[in-house]
Amino acid sequence: MFVYADNAATTKVRPAALRAFTEVAETYFGNPSSLHTAGQRAQEELTRCREKIARLLGAEPREIYFTSGGSESDNQAILSAAYAGARKGKKKIVSTAIEHHAVLHTLEKLKKEGFEVILLPVGTDGIVKAEDAAREIDENTCLVSVMLANNEIGTIQPVAEIGAVCREKKVPFHTDAVQAVGHIPVDVKTLGCDYLALSGHKFGAPRGVGALYVRKGAPLSSLIEGGAQERGKRAGTENLPAIAAMAAALEEAVNNLPAYTRKVTVLRDRLIEKLSAIPHCALNGDPKKRLCNNVSFCFEGIEGESLLLLLDEEGICASSGSACTSGSLDPSHVLLAIGRVHDVAHGSLRLTLSEETTEEEVDYIAEKVGYVVSYLRNMSPVWRDLTEGKRKYIL
Ligand SMILES: *Cc1c(COP(=O)(O)O)cnc(C)c1O
Repeated sequence: MFVYADNAATTKVRPAALRAFTEVAETYFGNPSSLHTAGQRAQEELTRCREKIARLLGAEPREIYFTSGGSESDNQAILSAAYAGARKGKKKIVSTAIEHHAVLHTLEKLKKEGFEVILLPVGTDGIVKAEDAAREIDENTCLVSVMLANNEIGTIQPVAEIGAVCREKKVPFHTDAVQAVGHIPVDVKTLGCDYLALSGHKFGAPRGVGALYVRKGAPLSSLIEGGAQERGKRAGTENLPAIAAMAAALEEAVNNLPAYTRKVTVLRDRLIEKLSAIPHCALNGDPKKRLCNNVSFCFEGIEGESLLLLLDEEGICASSGSACTSGSLDPSHVLLAIGRVHDVAHGSLRLTLSEETTEEEVDYIAEKVGYVVSYLRNMSPVWRDLTEGKRKYIL
């Protein structure tokens, strides 16, 4: 059996997105900046894509900027707001300890440039408190950045509440909605954000295309200099086929949201229930206030990486949801933020489902995880110490 359960890393391209890609690549091959007919047709198609994406997010077309993906959108939003704030003498940024590296590393760069960065803690449920954000915002704050849904543990943050606080205090607010768009309802007005980052490949479009919503009037500076594309804010010939694929994927995901949520929630809860039966393990993050496709566990006495490799041999594609992609041995900052100690955080497993996941696959995953966890524990000196009482169980 081959089971793809790593949809938070990337998704399979939807057939509708692939069709849009091919059609647009063949039909609207001109450069949208060219003045001739082929160029103008491409420009019109670009406008239609922008209108569609704007409508699906509750935004105006001129508030949508196409980018290369989530990382670029996060970078551009944060740097634009920070530098605009610094020009008015405001250099404090409020964010959270569980952001994606696209946000955290941008904030680290700003810190080196003299900005004060406050990372709000989260509870053991993996959710930041809006009151904590409100308390940290002062007259020096130039930006608040809080993700909508976490990429490791799937927890959904109170972004609309934080957005309301930011509106009231007139502080620019960015949300990394990369894991949320296409997976939960997202409306920029309801969220009260000034900036919202999204990425196509997390909801069935190809990689390398994304968008940044920028509320009318919010400052925006460019990361890439060159031509006047994207109203002068993002140079480079538009990747029109990918943009069209993203518009098609978003439309399908949004139209399908109720059915997707109903179906995948049942599968998620079935998998959580089955994995919870494994001794000395714990679900990471709130059991309900999480994305309907996210299952994240820690298992005591094992290494997440060995778990992943053995699951891969059983045909299961999963993730540890940790920083091991960077080759570092540091456990995930998200798992540490929810209070997992280093040893426990190392034994993590993230399974992210899709609309195509079946009940049979969920049962197969649960069976194999149970088997591989006990296999690894039998070989682990740490586990032996635990069973012999030389160490105390944490989970
Ligand atoms: C994937 C992801 C990103 C980065 O998006 P790319 O399009 O891969 O650059 C940023 N934030 C979150 C929460 C993500 O899950």
